[in-house]
This record gives sequence, C-alpha cells and structure tokens, in this order.
Amino acid sequence: MQRSTISLIAEQLIAENWVLEGPTGRLPRGRRPTFLRLNDERVIIGVDIRPVQTTVALADANGKFISQESMVTSSDPKIAVKGLIECIERMKRLCGGKMIEGIGISLPGRFDHSTDRLVFAPNLAWRNVDLRNPIVKETGLEVELENAANACVLAAVWFDRMEECPNLVVVTVSEGIGTGILANGKLVRGVHGMAGEFGHVPLDSNGPACGCGGRGCWEVFASNRAALRYYMESGSDSGGLDFQDLLSRAERGDTRAAKALETMAQYLGRGMRMIVAGLAPECIVVVGDLTRCWHRFGGVIEAEVQAQVLPGGCAPRLIPAYEDGMARLRGTVALVLQKHFSS
Ligand SMILES: [Zn+2]
Repeated sequence: MQRSTISLIAEQLIAENWVLEGPTGRLPRGRRPTFLRLNDERVIIGVDIRPVQTTVALADANGKFISQESMVTSSDPKIAVKGLIECIERMKRLCGGKMIEGIGISLPGRFDHSTDRLVFAPNLAWRNVDLRNPIVKETGLEVELENAANACVLAAVWFDRMEECPNLVVVTVSEGIGTGILANGKLVRGVHGMAGEFGHVPLDSNGPACGCGGRGCWEVFASNRAALRYYMESGSDSGGLDFQDLLSRAERGDTRAAKALETMAQYLGRGMRMIVAGLAPECIVVVGDLTRCWHRFGGVIEAEVQAQVLPGGCAPRLIPAYEDGMARLRGTVALVLQKHFSS
C-alpha cells in the first residue's frame, strides 16, 4: 500500500477510536513517526458452544482474554440460551467502563446466514434454533454467529498472520469433524452455509452409524469419539473415560491407548486426501485436543496425506493450532472484529 493510503486508514481508525496514538519515535531524518496501537478498552464477548460444554469469555481487541467461564450445554436450546444470557450479563458487569463491541458465537454445526438459523448440528440436538434474536433482545449487543471451523479460519487469518496463505483449510477434530475453507482468500460458505462437510462424506457405507443419519462417515472413523471406540474395542477398561484421559494414558505408556489414537490419526490423514484433491490448499490447520500430542501423531497424519498426492500436486503444510478451546474462542473475537474492519 501507499503511505498515504495507510495514513488515511489509520486516521479513520483513530477517528473511530479503534486505534490509539502512542509516543513518537525517532528517525535519522524526516518527520518523527507516531506509534499506533489497538485500543484495548474495546472488548468482545466470545461464546464457544460445544455439544457438551459452552464457554463464555471476555477478550480485548488484540485477542487477549481477560476472563472466562464454562457451563454444561443443555440439550434444550431454550434453557441453554437463558443460561448464556445470564453469563453474558455477568461478563458485562466485569467490563467496567470498557466498550463492548459485540458477541461472537461459534457453533458446532452449520449456520445458515440467509435464514439466520443453526441448520446442521448432528452432535447437538438443537433443531432450527434462533439464537441471535433472544440474545440481542436481552443483552442489547450485536451478535455474530458462525460455524466453529469457519470461526477458526478467521482466527488464523486475523491472529496467526496466515493471510499470506489464501488457500487454507481448518479441520476441527472433537466430538465430530468440521472443516472451514478459505479459497483464494475468501471464506467459502456454500448454499445454506453447508460447505465444508467433509466430515460427513462416507468412507465406508457399511461403517458405524453417524449422527447425521448416514453410515461410515469420515468423522465416525477420525473423531475423538472414534478413538475412544477403538480403545474400547481393544478390550481396555474405558468406563467413564474421556478423550483427555485417553491422551494421558497414551503418554503414560498405555500401548492400546496409543494404538487407538494412531488409528484415529491414520483416518484423519486418509480423509484429508479428499480435501487435498478437492481444494489443493497450501496448508491445513488442525484444531483439536489431539494436537497436544502432535509430536506423536502429527507424523502419522502427515504420512497418510503424503501417501497419495496426485502427480503435479503437492502435500499441504500441516499446522497444529492452539489448544482446541482457545482456537475457537479466538475465532469468536475475529468474527466481531472482521465485521468492523472488513469494509
Ligand atoms: Zn455423518
């Protein structure tokens, strides 16, 4: 950009109070430059709704988290929304005089922007739910909603400086598998916001039943739940075990736990071949608890992807993202920021 263009943009952001002027610097000659910084008196409330747990957090415009609270996600959306509003009100009281820019919500399913409804969330029993209006009405704040994987794409672009990577896919691996697609620098949503459902492409039509109504989808072989199933099938005692426990057991030398996670990782890589063949991204960002053991399983995923790269193509860079919950929360902050800055 031209210097004059940058000055114009900066002036506008200063006028809007998004950016503050700091001290002046020194140069050997010419005008002394003024340092600029984002105004951290402007805050954002981020909500990460997941099938089991919902997290509400308060962050400043730099994506730094100030406060955080978690609750169980109710299977009844009305109860869930009520609890959410109460929690948001508590966060508002924590803000003091800070200005709240809005609420960003990440969803474990697809959000249809044309009808303003959560349309496809196979791991959450909410159907055709309007989340925006009750929250706007009660809190008086603007609300931005987006699929979790899409929110993570925005987080990668906003906070991880991935803008030099215009073809990027985020794969979120938790109860299910979601993908968010950045193609030619643009987020791909598709009709009804349904783009990116690679997790529900069947790899084996005789495979286990899936929450979407189909069988043998990629996610029933490569999600956290799949790893727990592999572990159970190996005859190990898995009563009350969750995915974090499974990771800990693998780290402590439980070979069956390690094998279960390795199988999951193999399927993750195998499924990613669809993404590589279809979209040829420069990088795939993996979001999920599995990344905590990336040193053990990252290579397994990579080997599977590389085992079948088409002639002329090249394997994408695989990048483990921040801790699962953190990536999604940063996505909710990016959701609100991009609305203000995208123009
Ligand atoms: Zn499915």
